Amino acid sequence: MSRLDSFINRMSAQRDLLNHVRDNLVLPEAGEVFEIGLGNGRTYSHLRENFPGRRVIAFDRKLASHASATPAADDFVEGEIRETGQAFIGRQAALVHADIGTGYDDKDAITLIWLPQMVSGMLASGGVAVSGLPLDHTDLELLPRLPSIAEGRYFHYRRR
Ligand code: SAM
Repeated sequence: MSRLDSFINRMSAQRDLLNHVRDNLVLPEAGEVFEIGLGNGRTYSHLRENFPGRRVIAFDRKLASHASATPAADDFVEGEIRETGQAFIGRQAALVHADIGTGYDDKDAITLIWLPQMVSGMLASGGVAVSGLPLDHTDLELLPRLPSIAEGRYFHYRRR
């Protein structure tokens, strides 16, 4: 598969899954949304539009989002998420979206040492995680793959 096809697949998987969470899953009534990996701000912008009424807090090692998708200063957490995310453990988030895969197995393996535990710890019971990397954790129940999403492309979980 070309890099272009792979990129397009990732983008549509993100949109399909976030819309699926919006339309079909029940989230805890209260609770913030966390965007792990703000990047250009595309999915951040989608989260803001589609989960109105919830505060969306974005994390990245540096602020580089498009001006139209840049969080207020209070809603952006700068630095290495492995460290900055610790303060958000127990925060009872309703939804965590994590898009910090690199496409390099060796680099992603290092992220996967800490990411599943962190995402699980950030979520309220009944909260949902959506992630480009698999989050293997006993407290995260893998939800069925959407037919439109290729095996292994994007994942979503319910926090037990
Ligand atoms: N979902 C975003 C969008 O729609 O624009 C794109 C996210 S981009 C693929 C991943 C982002 O995560 C990059 O901006 C990178 O700087 C950030 N990132 C990756 N690993 C990180 C880490 N360990 N700590 C902080 N930021 C990280």
